[in-house]
Amino acid sequence: MSDLIELTEAGDGIRITLAYATPDNLTGRAVYAPGACCALRPEAARCLRRAVRAARQSGHVLQVFDSYRPAAVQQIFWDLISDPRYVADPAQGSNHTRGVAVDLTLLDTHGVALDMGTGFDAMCDQSHHDRDDLPVMVQRNRQLLLGIMLQAGFRSIPTEWWHYELPDAADYALIPEDSKVRVQA
Ligand SMILES: [Zn+2]
Repeated sequence: MSDLIELTEAGDGIRITLAYATPDNLTGRAVYAPGACCALRPEAARCLRRAVRAARQSGHVLQVFDSYRPAAVQQIFWDLISDPRYVADPAQGSNHTRGVAVDLTLLDTHGVALDMGTGFDAMCDQSHHDRDDLPVMVQRNRQLLLGIMLQAGFRSIPTEWWHYELPDAADYALIPEDSKVRVQA
């Protein structure tokens, strides 16, 4: 059995907008079952809660787009994209399916998303970290998110400004589709 911790808007002071539970994602349809929630392994949940506190110190709120992702959904993405820069090959498995990766951005005090230069899941060069052709404000916003997440214990990946994961993500097993996932508040 794999234990996942559920994070909630009320309990954790975050905004949860699960992109894959709506048609507003790269597949154009809702691929998460109704009732899908924001869930992470306990180690990653602890780090995310640290990030929530750090974001609050600069007057921001985290908006989560994705966290634990079932393997079947990863397969749907791979069938559609098959580009390992943006989608993990299901044969290797996604760190989302390990329950230790999270996709997110920052909201300001009015609940407005900071300008990160591209939308979440924009699979293009402009989504990469370390670009020198983005406006100063975008650089600043991305660096703010990066600082918050690194300080909280996550690491970034080069190709997606919105994706963070535990540094030892590969050490965690993929959470099997048919395992009973216990979501605890
Ligand atoms: Zn991700």
